[in-house]
Amino acid sequence: MKTHNFSAGPCILPQEVFKEVSESLINFDNLGLSVIEISHRSKSFVAVMDEAVALVREQLQIPDTYEVLFLQGGASMQFAMLAFNFLSENGKAQYLDTGAWSSKAYKEAAGLGNAEVLASSKEANYNFIPKDYEIEDDADYFHCTSNNTIYGTQIKKFPQTEAPLICDMSSDIFSRPLDVSKFDLIYAGAQKNLGPAGATLVIVKKDALGRSGRYIPTMLDYNTHISKGSMFNTPPVFSVYVSMLTLRWLKANGGVEAAQKRNEEKAALLYNEIDRNPFFTGTAAVEDRSTMNACFLLNDEAAHKEAFDAIIAEKKIYGVNGHRSVGGYRASMYNAMDLDSVVALLDCMKELENKF
Ligand SMILES: *Cc1c(COP(=O)(O)O)cnc(C)c1O
Repeated sequence: MKTHNFSAGPCILPQEVFKEVSESLINFDNLGLSVIEISHRSKSFVAVMDEAVALVREQLQIPDTYEVLFLQGGASMQFAMLAFNFLSENGKAQYLDTGAWSSKAYKEAAGLGNAEVLASSKEANYNFIPKDYEIEDDADYFHCTSNNTIYGTQIKKFPQTEAPLICDMSSDIFSRPLDVSKFDLIYAGAQKNLGPAGATLVIVKKDALGRSGRYIPTMLDYNTHISKGSMFNTPPVFSVYVSMLTLRWLKANGGVEAAQKRNEEKAALLYNEIDRNPFFTGTAAVEDRSTMNACFLLNDEAAHKEAFDAIIAEKKIYGVNGHRSVGGYRASMYNAMDLDSVVALLDCMKELENKF
């Protein structure tokens, strides 16, 4: 019986990818060696890095004026790194506070220089995306989080601004088409739609760099990594390799447009049931609901939690517990999740309804 993986991250990846990875862990590229025991400067691994970058460029139609990097340190390292590179001594950064990740990003900029929160939904436990705010055109940058993994909200339309636009897309990159040319910097931890933990994807506009006027620690300077093709130091070889395979899988399955269609179909199915089923309520504002992470509560937790948890355990539904700051349940439905897993969760919700 299949285990249905709704984990928020690290999360589901395609089964085909795991099969290929398991072979490459023993014998990669007919070398008789594992992909994780060869030099990152070997021909075989350089080819992996080159293909990973090329696939990112192709899938997101990234203009030549941008660089694509695979770095370490997670999305959390980017919170500080981007501030070093984009926030000048006398400049100002503006942040949209839509959740725990946004506010951690803001904290790093505020520790370095002048940063302000333009709008926040914190008072409402981040259950919506604020839309009523004015970005200053001469800000050093505006930062937002495209998908709020913990609260299940997602930006559907990015703001128009003259200021450089920076976005944390950790939990919805490659889930939908994207106009990269609107952004100066996009970053994403690999472990939510791309690959295993360990790599962070960075897409940066070349001529936006070099303007902060600060001393930037070597490892935190995007130009360090650009000049060495993500090989200034040892890259996270395993994560880059698996990410490359996931990107091949994405391409073979119709790219980001087809992914968006599948993701919207899955999300619609689940949200319709959340709205229909009298035992459950969604937590996010309807117009901001994420296609990646759906958060919902039992209306009567005291009466039904035990029964529902037993039903989902029986159906081998994995990883649907809500984040502690929201409670209830969270179903993460990343690219690699098939519709049948969502159907299995729906069956559980209906079974609960029929039981009482
Ligand atoms: C998971 C997540 C992060 C943190 O990523 P790390 O790679 O663990 O640092 C940051 N932002 C968002 C939106 C996330 O979902």
